[in-house]
Amino acid sequence: MRVSNGVEMLELEAEAFGGKIVIHPTLLWDDQEAILIDTGMPGQFEALVSAMNRVGISLDQLKAVILTHQDLDHIGNVPDIIKATEGRVKVFAHECDKPYIEGDLPLIKTNPKRMEKILESLPEDQSRIMLKLCENPPKANIDALLSNVQELPYFGGIKVLFTPGHTPGHISLYLKKSRVLIAGDAMICMDGNLRGPVEQTTLDMDTAISSLETLLAYDIDSVICYHGGVCNRKVHDQIESIIKN
Ligand SMILES: [Zn+2]
Repeated sequence: MRVSNGVEMLELEAEAFGGKIVIHPTLLWDDQEAILIDTGMPGQFEALVSAMNRVGISLDQLKAVILTHQDLDHIGNVPDIIKATEGRVKVFAHECDKPYIEGDLPLIKTNPKRMEKILESLPEDQSRIMLKLCENPPKANIDALLSNVQELPYFGGIKVLFTPGHTPGHISLYLKKSRVLIAGDAMICMDGNLRGPVEQTTLDMDTAISSLETLLAYDIDSVICYHGGVCNRKVHDQIESIIKN
């Protein structure tokens, strides 16, 4: 879905944790190059590349991947992207999620210990697949660290906004030219309405809500939520009401 000129919200359907989920990486591009924000669940590499191809972008044009955070459904296909492009694609993330993405620490939410209960509740074959994934998650070296209010000089300026809470190193991205906010999992969208982050998967809810306050300083026309898609109605008011409630 075209959100703005050069801003495409992709759509991938994934099997995860015993259910189907639809997730939304974002592709930024011009006639020279492209940047992908988040990459889907492990095993979705081909679906991801097809979704990019439908926008008219090939892997050859991809310059960088920006990860909003360490969760499995965001980092899933980084290793395949790096392999397919022979390491040419650079990977950016925040310092606080770097050791998890690089595999120095187990992913916070899907480490096998924490997953025990969830895995038990799944049918055996699915449980086995998920356990294997949790024991051996995708890993990738981070080529550059992103910090709060840093501006990346691509596509008219990409402002990095540190929005911790969902994970310690969660970031959102504000596209200055199109006034689009890529919120990652800092918020979700339901029926066109913005909601706060999902409580069950947010590590520090208080921090996550105060992170939303920093977004109020920006003039946002549309928000792309990784879960739920685009919201473009009275964004400022909606974020304010999430914070208040
Ligand atoms: Zn997440």
